[in-house]
Amino acid sequence: MRSLVVGGVRGSGGALVDLVVVDGVITDVAAAGSAVVPPEVERVDGRGLLALPGFINAHAHVDKSWWGQPWVSYGGEPTTQGRIAHERAERDKYGIPSVDGTKAVLREFLRHGTTATRTHVDVDLGVGLRGIANVHEAAAALNGAVEVEIVAFPQDGVLRRPGVLELLDQAAAEGATSIGGLDPASIDRDPVGQLDALFEIAVRRNVGIDIHLHDRGDLGGFQYELIAERTVAGGLSGRVNVSHGFALGELSPQRRSEMVYQLGEAGVSWTTVAPVNSAPLPWREMRTAGVAIGLGTDGIRDLWSPYGDGDLLQIARGFARLHGLRDDADLTYAIELATTAAAPFVHREVHGLTPGARADIVLIDAENVPDVLVRAPRREFVIAGGQVVLRDGVLQV
Ligand SMILES: [Zn+2]
Repeated sequence: MRSLVVGGVRGSGGALVDLVVVDGVITDVAAAGSAVVPPEVERVDGRGLLALPGFINAHAHVDKSWWGQPWVSYGGEPTTQGRIAHERAERDKYGIPSVDGTKAVLREFLRHGTTATRTHVDVDLGVGLRGIANVHEAAAALNGAVEVEIVAFPQDGVLRRPGVLELLDQAAAEGATSIGGLDPASIDRDPVGQLDALFEIAVRRNVGIDIHLHDRGDLGGFQYELIAERTVAGGLSGRVNVSHGFALGELSPQRRSEMVYQLGEAGVSWTTVAPVNSAPLPWREMRTAGVAIGLGTDGIRDLWSPYGDGDLLQIARGFARLHGLRDDADLTYAIELATTAAAPFVHREVHGLTPGARADIVLIDAENVPDVLVRAPRREFVIAGGQVVLRDGVLQV
């Protein structure tokens, strides 16, 4: 058995504790100095740093970044279709997708304390399923430190590209936990057709669905309804997610309330990158209705946008600022969205500094959890599945 003690850290309650790790799992949380372990066991001196669970990035694109390469000036058109076309035309020039590029992104995730992610991976007629294979290879090269869950993502459309449905079906058969979708109305111009086809695969292959929905206003709202109806009909409660879904913040108050209730009843969850130009969300209503909210970085430094550094804390802070969160309970809630509350997005039963959880531990020099959110300080130590992957701010992998 491989053991580790992360000693003398502050838990959320403020008291100093030792976290005992055996074979990558937290087995005990004891008062500092009281854990009984053999003297030869490796020990990380926590120095009174604040301990948080590893961050869970619920919406990423680890296959398509130019991270680690010289700066790439943005050259796309400012529409979804314009960006798709730009990416397809330019990606080969930057070796996208590749194992090394994916590894560079996953290392940045670890540097910032992200130890699990749900990543959309492009599946199209050009790359086929090669991007998915790259992601598996890159994750394995880092000893599985970042636990990666795959969404097979039809970035270039579904029905408008004959052959893509078959690729999604194959990806689902080969282990993708979800298949993706993309603006069924504005990209395929056939919302019922795209959604029916995706739900048919999901039900038959027993996988989830995670749909990028950029369509705004009532057009987006209409697609929310189609998704919720099919989630109920297909028995997929808890396995369907809407990504971005800007429309939810743009509907009239009454329609929005009805929609939130419908999503809660259907068991549809929701992920956001909390962009600065989106309408605030009815997050309190969503919480009451049981609509799970996940935070993600989306793509970072890719052919869609030069922004993003892979730090989920920046996204949590963006969520807090977008919604005007100020009191300690709300600031703490934003951190929970990035950590414990995100467990379902990577199919974890338990995630936290608690016995039985994967040993994903982040140590930060901060006064308390709200202080972490507002300052987003450097991560001092990161332990991922029991491996020390960041020590004194320096990556070890
Ligand atoms: Zn995305």
